[in-house]
Amino acid sequence: MKANRGFDEETDVVVIGAGIGGLTCGAYLAKRGKRVKVLEQHYVPGGCCTSFNRKGFQFDAGVLHLAGGKESGAFQRVLSALDIEDELEFREQFQRFVFPDVSLESSRDVTHWPSLLKDKFPREAEGIVGLFDVIGKIHDDIRRLPETSPLIKKYRYKSFQELLDEYIRDAKLKALVSANWHLWHPNWRNSAIDYAALLITEQSRGYFYPMGGVQSIPDALVRALERHGGEIEYKTLVNQIAVRDGVAVGVKTSEGKRIQAKQVVSNVAARSTFLNMIGEDHLPAEFVNLLRQLEISLSAFYVYLGVSIDPRGVGLDAPETIVYETYDNTREWELLLRGEPSIPCFGIAVPTYIDSTLAPQGCHVVIVMTMAPYHLRNRSWSEEKREMSDTLIAKAEKLIPGLSQHIIVRDAATPLTYERYTLNTMGAAMGWAYSPSMFLKRLDQRTPIHNLYLAGHWTTPGGGVPTVALSGLKAARMILGE
Ligand SMILES: Cc1cc2nc3c(=O)[nH]c(=O)nc-3n(C[C@H](O)[C@H](O)[C@H](O)COP(=O)(O)OP(=O)(O)OC[C@H]3O[C@@H](n4cnc5c(N)ncnc54)[C@H](O)[C@@H]3O)c2cc1C
Repeated sequence: MKANRGFDEETDVVVIGAGIGGLTCGAYLAKRGKRVKVLEQHYVPGGCCTSFNRKGFQFDAGVLHLAGGKESGAFQRVLSALDIEDELEFREQFQRFVFPDVSLESSRDVTHWPSLLKDKFPREAEGIVGLFDVIGKIHDDIRRLPETSPLIKKYRYKSFQELLDEYIRDAKLKALVSANWHLWHPNWRNSAIDYAALLITEQSRGYFYPMGGVQSIPDALVRALERHGGEIEYKTLVNQIAVRDGVAVGVKTSEGKRIQAKQVVSNVAARSTFLNMIGEDHLPAEFVNLLRQLEISLSAFYVYLGVSIDPRGVGLDAPETIVYETYDNTREWELLLRGEPSIPCFGIAVPTYIDSTLAPQGCHVVIVMTMAPYHLRNRSWSEEKREMSDTLIAKAEKLIPGLSQHIIVRDAATPLTYERYTLNTMGAAMGWAYSPSMFLKRLDQRTPIHNLYLAGHWTTPGGGVPTVALSGLKAARMILGE
């Protein structure tokens, strides 16, 4: 079919962005017979879920694990819908949480932590039982009956800190209960409901690592897309979504190419999609106001090290170790939220424990990471980068003595790096934040622009690889009317 006047080519669906959400959507539509074109500004697919190589070491740029791997309901559904279950191999791993005088391991048995904590804090036993009981009920209700649940009503505008304070008195115990950092914010900025749901979901599913590194996930999705006749163009930045009479009709690339499409799917940061690529004039005023008000999640600071030492030799045996140097990191969080380069906790990932092919023989990949603000108050990230890397390496060295003497390759990513490579606003790791005021405020996958859909972590259900994959599948099914 020929493109209409004003367009250079035409297709059924254009997907902007080859993150996991965009690729899943495109691959499923292609499998269902649609002509699909995915346009990606980077030279590799995956967005936050990519890997890069340096001197024989393969580093995962952002994503370090998947909750549930193939066993997670959401991701399993996606892989089987695309017939690629056999193309990915996941290995289960575990996380160790290290506190000043205690260390705990992740466990898929959701009764394990409450009973362990009851043994350590017998005077708080009643509170621990009550807290985990309510966490379990919130997790169930949010899936089954969020509208009618009295619990959801009670906690919908509360923070996890408020929920904790209701049941627990001991500050140390509070820190242990909230050791999971995967909503990227402190307890008082995390929604009680989102955090409770995350705790049970992640704990019961466990943590999995894809063999071949996290790049193997988008690579498998691209193969699925192409197998069904879909196309992907790299180094292609879309800077406009063409809208006529409230309907999306195609896109324009930065090089001036205009592609006509019956549907457009944006896997791109929401404010860019609507405010930059469409423009306020095409949007309802209240939608524009909402977009400006929604809170964006924090970003990260990563140090990537290729090392000639096996950290297991000095006792660091977990593929992921999360270190809390203090039981009360309120001050560190406050500094970070004010734009200071502060470290409330940090993680050390050694993916080569699971897949030794990611490094030359006898060597390991060590990634040291923490959360980070986009704006620093008194310095630029380019000024801060070296110092922050040195600080994180020094902290990691306390657990891996000799680390700094065995570094072969060293690189780092700041929030600006994540923004540059993924175009996520402020390098946001999870799209919108999970604060109490953001509860149920993620944008709908259907948009005020007819025939424009969203997939990825700026829409529902939320951030994280399995979740955005599900959003991609859902967007595709909306388009297909399935
Ligand atoms: C540092 C970090 C660590 C994380 N760790 C984990 C983890 O361990 N486990 C987990 O499950 N989740 C993790 N997450 C969250 C998870 O990675 C994201 O929620 C998820 O990958 C986002 O997927 P997405 O589909 O929204 O697309 P994104 O990954 O945001 O990708 C969007 C894509 O669109 C492209 N693009 C943007 N604008 C344009 C444009 N105008 N034209 C063309 N292309 C464009 C980008 O280049 C990019 O490829 C992490 C995120 C970060 C940043």
